[in-house]
Amino acid sequence: MARIPLISGNWKMNLNHFEAIQLVQKLSYELSGHDFGQVEVSLHPPYTDLRSIQTVIDADRMGFELGAQNCHTEASGAFTGEISPAMLAKLDVGYVIVGHSERRALFAESNEDVALKASAVFAYEMTPIVCVGETLQERESGQAANIVEAQVVGSLKSVTSQQLGDVVIAYEPVWAIGTGATASADDAQEMCAHIRTVVASIRKEASESVRIQYGGSVNPSNSTELMTMPDIDGALVGGASLQSDSFARIVNFKEA
Ligand code: PEP
Repeated sequence: MARIPLISGNWKMNLNHFEAIQLVQKLSYELSGHDFGQVEVSLHPPYTDLRSIQTVIDADRMGFELGAQNCHTEASGAFTGEISPAMLAKLDVGYVIVGHSERRALFAESNEDVALKASAVFAYEMTPIVCVGETLQERESGQAANIVEAQVVGSLKSVTSQQLGDVVIAYEPVWAIGTGATASADDAQEMCAHIRTVVASIRKEASESVRIQYGGSVNPSNSTELMTMPDIDGALVGGASLQSDSFARIVNFKEA
């Protein structure tokens, strides 16, 4: 099955809404002529930028999908400081990152929390990007495959077997995020193939359509080798998504 690659820009806690608008406009210019049907692109700004970016995408009929970086599980209620999936859906958000390693490490999110979030995202007809990945210590002690497998199974356990094939999984080794150290294309491929096998063990057909991104210091120099691996269906990009030229070159990985 041909899977459409998804390149996602995770802006983390960067760019106010004026800066965000500027970046989207520059990116749109750099990607004029890009076929979004061939390589999909989602942008994940901070919550405070979402409405501004939604308006710009709409007004200029840009091909970007709007994305969020996190969400709560409930539709509304007494959860001070949280944002609901219903609110995101109302802003035309298409993709929501759940279980990013920074949320797991800094905000103590468990696989169970991530599973509930993934299910809540689907309930509002958006697609979760479910992040998994081992730490350096886990890799060095030979546990990477088992850790990632447990994260995949645990983080997807609230998703129905029907929804499973529509999930996006981002394999992001923690030691490669924001460090400049990238997994080799062979190591990234090996783990993404393993993740696909784990999904197949839950539902075979889902493993053919599920998209698996690689994330961790992706840049224009390493993106083509990574993205052309058979089980890698795109990238989750942090630092390099904050510059329009580098992100555009990653989106255009097929042309490199
Ligand atoms: C990320 O934020 O998910 C990420 C992979 O960051 P970076 O590309 O900067 O390593």
